[in-house]
Amino acid sequence: MLTTIIYRSHFCDDVPVKALESMVAAASVKNREADVTGILLFNGTHFFQLLEGPDEAVKAIYQTICEDSRHYNVVELLYDYGPSRRFGKVGMELFDLREHDRDEVLQTILDKGTSKYQLTFNDRALQFFRTFVAATEKPNYFEVPASIDWAFVTDTEARYVDPQVAMKHADCGFAFQPIIDPLSQEIVSLEALVRTASGDSPEAYFSALSGEAVYEADLNSKQAAFALASALELHDQTISVNLLPMTLVNVPDAVATLLQSIELNGLVPEQVIVEFTESEAISQFDAFTQAVRSLKAAGISVAIDHFGAGFAGLLMLAQFQPDRIKISRDLIRDVHKSGPRQAIVQAIIKCCASLEIAVSAVGVEKPEEWMWLESAGIFHFQGHLFARPCFCGIPPVAWPEKKSLL
Ligand code: C2E
Ligand code: MN
Repeated sequence: MLTTIIYRSHFCDDVPVKALESMVAAASVKNREADVTGILLFNGTHFFQLLEGPDEAVKAIYQTICEDSRHYNVVELLYDYGPSRRFGKVGMELFDLREHDRDEVLQTILDKGTSKYQLTFNDRALQFFRTFVAATEKPNYFEVPASIDWAFVTDTEARYVDPQVAMKHADCGFAFQPIIDPLSQEIVSLEALVRTASGDSPEAYFSALSGEAVYEADLNSKQAAFALASALELHDQTISVNLLPMTLVNVPDAVATLLQSIELNGLVPEQVIVEFTESEAISQFDAFTQAVRSLKAAGISVAIDHFGAGFAGLLMLAQFQPDRIKISRDLIRDVHKSGPRQAIVQAIIKCCASLEIAVSAVGVEKPEEWMWLESAGIFHFQGHLFARPCFCGIPPVAWPEKKSLL
């Protein structure tokens, strides 16, 4: 199958531009041997390249390109299949946009095309050319600094409580994971993640239950979460707990029970955030919305979890606006390298800004993911990069510090 990859990247300014020509000549021969053709645009700062050929060969060459130290911030814009090559003449050809008249440059590029049919703007690949030449997306080309510029400095020791505190209230324990604001070095919230009594995963805890017992246990477990949070002395920090949407609908007086255990443990509703994945909420949406209204009326905030992971849909957002949206790890993973993920995350940020909904990113593992997201306008993060969940305790946080400032 004929595969097309388009990427853009930043040229390292310590490499002389003159070196480009010999680099391109060598790459052209190598690509030709692998039956890969394409074109490389350069605007003085950024590269934009189209590669076409057999799937495996294009992938292998792209992999090598990603590892080349003469450029950085390589972002894949398009990965698609097509009937014929658009630029089939040479392995790689360098096209320096600065040497051409602005009004004619796009046509000059298209004239190099080899497609049987006239190259039209209906083609996504060629639309990317037009956008790159016109530089309309340039404000979104974030300069993500090298991750070696940052040190992750752990300041405090973990703080634990006796798991028996939880066991007084339920047959489970909780792990806590901080949601942080790295710039102000603050913990914004602690998320309580359910565990079995011996510290096993939420799946292990819920798999031992069936039918209505799942909802009862889900609600009941929150007493243990609040008891642990109270023993951990949260002060004015907020605590985030997860609930199945149907727990609120199916368990009688669920909101009242929740409020009662908040109060019993010396907490206030205003410091509690309930997170929902709306996987099953849609089936009884009206009943769910009613339950959420009771939570809000009592002062509890609401977050939509796993946003973008398939369940948490846009229609849900049209019908009900939470206080916070947590973007799923599935969208966060390698966001710094992927054009589609960047476009989706930016759209979520823009939408939430219009609706005054706070946004956080979950499952951040790499410094580059965090740096890209921060440049895009996200300020709250949760992930192994900063702190892992800690069973019956609050883990230390690894705060990012710019090395030059250390
Ligand atoms: P969640 O609410 O999205 O919680 C975050 C999950 O991502 C946690 O998994 C956490 O350990 C994991 N995580 C955090 N940072 C990273 C990271 O950097 N990389 C990766 N790969 N994972 C990271 P955990 O504790 O296994 O929980 C899984 C899910 O179980 C939760 O996802 C939540 O939806 C559900 N859950 C947890 N506690 C409860 C609860 O009390 N009630 C209900 N109904 N569901 C719960
Ligand atoms: Mn959650």
